[in-house]
Amino acid sequence: MKPIDRRTFNQMMAKGSAGAAILSAAPFACAMGSTQEKQKLGIALVGLGSYSTYQLAPALQDTQHCYLAGIVTGTPEKEKAWATKYGIPKGNIYNYDNFENIANNDAIDVVYVVLPNSMHAEFAIRAAKAGKHVICEKPMGISVAECDAIIDACKKAGVKLGMGYRLHSEPYTQQVKQFVKDKTFGDIQYVGAEAAYRSTGNPDQWRLNKKLSGGGALMNMGVYAIQSAIYGTGKNPISVSAQEFSTRPDYFKDTDETIMAQFEFPSGAVANMSTSHNFNANSMYVSGTSGWFQLQPANNYGPLRGRTSRGEELKFPHESQQKLQMDDFAKHVLFGEPNKATGEMGKRDMMIVEAIYASIAKGGQTMGLDFEPGFGFGG
Ligand code: NAD
Repeated sequence: MKPIDRRTFNQMMAKGSAGAAILSAAPFACAMGSTQEKQKLGIALVGLGSYSTYQLAPALQDTQHCYLAGIVTGTPEKEKAWATKYGIPKGNIYNYDNFENIANNDAIDVVYVVLPNSMHAEFAIRAAKAGKHVICEKPMGISVAECDAIIDACKKAGVKLGMGYRLHSEPYTQQVKQFVKDKTFGDIQYVGAEAAYRSTGNPDQWRLNKKLSGGGALMNMGVYAIQSAIYGTGKNPISVSAQEFSTRPDYFKDTDETIMAQFEFPSGAVANMSTSHNFNANSMYVSGTSGWFQLQPANNYGPLRGRTSRGEELKFPHESQQKLQMDDFAKHVLFGEPNKATGEMGKRDMMIVEAIYASIAKGGQTMGLDFEPGFGFGG
């Protein structure tokens, strides 16, 4: 039997004619009934900006265990364009005001929050209260208190929570984690991590507005460098000290431009991270007692590249990181597979972000960090 495509399937759902198709079209035997019975989860994207438009929606056309079921937008003009392009039924389109009605929509299992950072907590919590699983973009919120509120809301509602940390589903990053776990290059002594790009666009964009972003380079790209330092050592840090640099105060009026920070780990390993909205940098370098490995680039949409002190080039086939990430989350929900990017991971990173800002406020003073062993490490 010829499989139907997603767009046709959605249109049939809208007309109420999909029942027969569900019975006969195994690839999409999914969109009704409880999560346990489904093979594919319906995802609703909240916030249809550039990440949803150019990465997540296209990736959802290729995912195996989830599909683009709905949208939530504050911009009415986007509704028709998205409905037409992706065959989204009218009943699966929401705005910020009627979003709560999503609770009554069985076609939507997961709400993916892709809004400016200061809106993540509000929408993640509203989604959880509506009984939907939640994927939250990075950074999880703009404070540890917001991360706690999201985690609590998801626990109370009995829904799953994942972070949009796509690199945990990506093969080069998974190889890094494996090298560290297997001690392939001995005990790790040093990680250098950089995640930065030069911002020259509209100075009024939300990323440069602290109220909406929560902070500048550190909130945006810094979380990648923090993550690299942690999966590069395989441990959470026990302290951090940090410095801020500013060269374009007229452009970066409200948010940090460049931040560097140094971490200490329980083993004695150290890491140095840089993040910026003023220069381009994208790498991680890990040195152990018997060799080194490196990713450059380390945190863009790929393909990443890697090499090691043994003279080898790391080579993995390229697939959309977003596709892999959303499928991994769907497999966590559907089949109980490990959650690779947990809410605790998002909270841990925000605890480190807050410690970095606190260190800068105190002139670079070393701030202690006290995590339970393994806190924030996904499966
Ligand atoms: P964007 O500016 O392109 O889109 C933001 C969306 O939010 C737009 O649809 C806009 O209409 C909507 N919005 C609602 N209220 C708004 C307000 N008050 N001000 C501005 N926009 C408002 O941003 P983006 O690049 O899509 O980023 C969205 C989120 O996704 C951010 O949290 C960002 O950190 C995250 N992100 C993650 C990755 C990743 O690789 N994981 C990549 C890009 C963005």
